[in-house]
Amino acid sequence: MYFTPNETQQRHAFIDHSLEAANAVLAEPQIVEALGDYAADLSDVAGRLYIPNARFGRLTVPRAYRGTDHIPVVALETGERLRVYDDEFKERNPRQREAVFSEVESWGTPYDPVVYAQNLGSIATARCKIYPRQQLITSLAASNLAAVSDVRAHVDIPTAALRSPDVANRYLVRARPLLTLNYSKKQADPGVVVHEYAHIVQSEREVVIAAPEDNEAMHDARWELEAYHVGATLVHAMRGAGMEIADYGKQVKRDRIRQTQAAQDDPFRPTAELLGNLAQQKLGI
Ligand SMILES: [Zn+2]
Repeated sequence: MYFTPNETQQRHAFIDHSLEAANAVLAEPQIVEALGDYAADLSDVAGRLYIPNARFGRLTVPRAYRGTDHIPVVALETGERLRVYDDEFKERNPRQREAVFSEVESWGTPYDPVVYAQNLGSIATARCKIYPRQQLITSLAASNLAAVSDVRAHVDIPTAALRSPDVANRYLVRARPLLTLNYSKKQADPGVVVHEYAHIVQSEREVVIAAPEDNEAMHDARWELEAYHVGATLVHAMRGAGMEIADYGKQVKRDRIRQTQAAQDDPFRPTAELLGNLAQQKLGI
């Protein structure tokens, strides 16, 4: 994919406007208060975004940002596909590495030590080697206003090596996130952008997850429910502060339905009943 300098400039301006609008909202004291525990993480993401180089149709991470926690943002039209060849996207950012180390360390004992070293240990250290064939490809359907994508892979642990029936033998691991905004929409509203910031927080918090196959769709649903909650909270707070907002009806409606069925101890649990209810009201996720 190659953009003329003028086109590149227009896309950069679109990204700048969209992020500035969202970040200005996140800086408002009333919004910070409404977002509670989420506020600090979201504004932390807001402070780490940058536009990467795209030359001759290839996206590369500039030297200054390699190995850092900075998060690249690109703008694509509906249906455009961006394939990212830079191996930096098969690495984790420093926060993700830290999250993986502490997670994997906590698993040490239930596994045979040799298998642990060969498999689980490699989750923490091998980085690129975990994703030999994967490449980051990002594209947006017409219904996607934005998305967070990453290179991901599965790591399987031989069942014979498990010393406890309570531990997983299949893990989903992910590398650094990329934020894509839908340029066809001409304006990415704060409710959309902040929903994606919530996904970035998630991808840095849960880099490795136990993922037996039937669990993975549920995991994705859980993340969506949480991101909708963050987006809906922002929209309510913006309304309360008299700020102008676009139509975020679906985000708010989904969160309202979730709240009526949420378990106290696990508010974003994607139960079959909740997912069925959302689908029935044409709010499927
Ligand atoms: Zn989402």
